[in-house]
Amino acid sequence: MDQNQINALKKFLSSKRKIVILGHKGPDGDAVGATLALSQFLKKINQSTTVIVPNDFPDFLKWLPESDTILIFDKATKQATKAIKDAELIFTLDFNTLSRVGEDMQHLLESLNTPFALIDHHQQPGDFATYKYSDVTMSSTAEMVYHFIEMMQGANLIDQSIATCIYTGIMTDTGSFRFSSTSSETHRVAAKLIDLGIDNAMIHQAVFDTNSPERMQLLGVALQNLQILEPFHTAYITLTQDELDRHNFKKGDTEGFVNYALSVKGIVFAAIFIENKQEEIIKISFRSIGDFSVNEFARNHFNGGGHNNAAGGRSSVSLKETISDFITNLQLYKNELSNE
Ligand code: 5GP
Ligand code: MN
Repeated sequence: MDQNQINALKKFLSSKRKIVILGHKGPDGDAVGATLALSQFLKKINQSTTVIVPNDFPDFLKWLPESDTILIFDKATKQATKAIKDAELIFTLDFNTLSRVGEDMQHLLESLNTPFALIDHHQQPGDFATYKYSDVTMSSTAEMVYHFIEMMQGANLIDQSIATCIYTGIMTDTGSFRFSSTSSETHRVAAKLIDLGIDNAMIHQAVFDTNSPERMQLLGVALQNLQILEPFHTAYITLTQDELDRHNFKKGDTEGFVNYALSVKGIVFAAIFIENKQEEIIKISFRSIGDFSVNEFARNHFNGGGHNNAAGGRSSVSLKETISDFITNLQLYKNELSNE
């Protein structure tokens, strides 16, 4: 965010405002961590905040400080709609276009004249925001919230609770500090958070070591379904609604499964296709290693987007047809992928 915008925001926040902070649909550790951290910081500078996400978030994030205050739009629609309509400023965190909050919320947001403030690290940010802090080189939106608080000269207000939320966002979006988006600055921010006294080992454990037996068995099914397309250095996993149902699927259970496909030796492009009968879509996650841009692939063929090495998308035909489309589309990248 440039200095003029920071100054304008500071001025706007010099009196108490009603502020809504939004995360994207299918909220992940970064969306939840970043929104909660920003909310807690803004409250410390005497603002009134409401965090809203379009749909529910995984249980492995429900221990986060103040996570029980988050309004879930599709469950508390009336209350969330009122908060959004009453807001004087709406922060949009961890997403680049309003379509990422789902149709109902998108229409509501588009009907407003309220100013938006975007903090996000996804590619191709939209033009809807008055205040814009977009940086695609950042590890996570949570790391950006840390820098944003610094820009607002509020670093001294970061307490253990805010630090825990920021650390969780950084940790989850960097795959525990291993993806290429992890910079030395990311580690410096993490170090400062640890210096504030957060229990980093506990955070890793709370997020990653609280699996249900059903989730582990679902992972077994996913790994059994792994397919390798050797000439394309590509691997993919499928999960049908029936397979999810048989393992008592809960939100977040498939988080990270796609990384197992990417971990196969020689694989540079991985995907997971998950059937969602209720929404009548196939939700897809894409991952890559190196130069192959899954953001472009998801954008061009599967109505999605994200980052160069991690993106998502969707398809509204059957799982079988989606896989067949996927394999057809791969042909277009044969040279690129076979040279990787
Ligand atoms: P995941 O595969 O973990 O759901 O998401 C990977 C990355 O792609 C995240 O940064 C996420 O925000 C983004 N992403 C996931 N699904 C979509 C989608 O349908 N559209 C867009 N534009 N981005 C997505
Ligand atoms: Mn993120």
